[in-house]
Amino acid sequence: MEDRFVLRNVKTTDEKTIDLVIANNKIVEIAAPNTGKGDRIIDFDQNAYISSGWIDMHVHAFHEFNPYGDEIDEIGYKLGVTTIVDAGSTGTDRIHDLIAHSKLAKTNVFAFLNISKIGLQRIDELSDLAWLNEEEVQTVVEKYQDFIVGLKARISNSVVGENGLEPLEIARKISNATNLPLMVHIGSGPPDITGVLELLKKKDVITHYLHGKKNNLFNDAGEPLPEFLAAMKKGIHLDVGHGNASFSFPTAKQAKEHGIPLHTISTDIYRKNRLHGPVYSLADTLTKFLYLGYALKDVIDAVTVNAAKWLNKPELGRVVIGDVANLTLFSVDDQRIKLTDSDGLERFCDKQIKVKGVVVNGQFIEC
Ligand code: ZN
Ligand code: ZN
Repeated sequence: MEDRFVLRNVKTTDEKTIDLVIANNKIVEIAAPNTGKGDRIIDFDQNAYISSGWIDMHVHAFHEFNPYGDEIDEIGYKLGVTTIVDAGSTGTDRIHDLIAHSKLAKTNVFAFLNISKIGLQRIDELSDLAWLNEEEVQTVVEKYQDFIVGLKARISNSVVGENGLEPLEIARKISNATNLPLMVHIGSGPPDITGVLELLKKKDVITHYLHGKKNNLFNDAGEPLPEFLAAMKKGIHLDVGHGNASFSFPTAKQAKEHGIPLHTISTDIYRKNRLHGPVYSLADTLTKFLYLGYALKDVIDAVTVNAAKWLNKPELGRVVIGDVANLTLFSVDDQRIKLTDSDGLERFCDKQIKVKGVVVNGQFIEC
């Protein structure tokens, strides 16, 4: 039997009110308010926005690993996120287990493959070059090409140890050979950030680009490094990757003041920072960008259109008749909230993004 339901009186981020009709898991009609017909009417009375389903480009979804692990649906649809991208929790040793687990979840899952075979089983996964094996990566990438969207290399001192830039040089070589972009985690050096930037190409992702530690993308005067601007010109992609240690309000303010564009906003979420902060959820992370003064549409585009475009999956970033329905319903409440960055700095915002529900692969779930 056909399940046909109407999301009634929902607003787009352009402030247009519509009825959205879903049948057999697909969007079948975008109608004027109060005109959509179906067996079930879910009336939001103009108190909810609708967007294509949110995409979180940096999460840790392999439940077996600690500290960087969590259950897929806990950081996925239950937080309003219909698609998550695991950021290299697993390498060639365990990616098949992540894939098997993702098949049991409702949330859509893709992943960056860690270039270290052990992934985040240890958090110094690039400290021993014996854990990098180009052939194994190539075999796995070919086998799981629908699942793997890129390669992950965590290039900061606690991860690479004495190895400096060498793991990134190897990653570059594997990336070129497999034709998969890199997601590079940046943080404290050595290696120096300028050496990292030099090795990046168009479409590569820098995650944690707003971190507030030394060796970040801004000089002491708060201006973007020339090497950073040069990398932007090459077409690198910027991803927030908030996490426990990688989002700073002062750095984010510098980025905005210098017109650094907002590409994707992501959480770097896992059990600890979901339950105890400072991340909590993608919605809270988005609220931080409202606080910074970005327009709602730009903030939502950063977890829909922009992420879908990077993934080469435009259907995940639009609301179009005929597509499988992946949608997020949310409100922007006039309610004061205390926001905390990764360095413990607190800010207050008078608006708050809250998730009200999702449609994940055609199924409506209230949040
Ligand atoms: Zn990281
Ligand atoms: Zn991470």
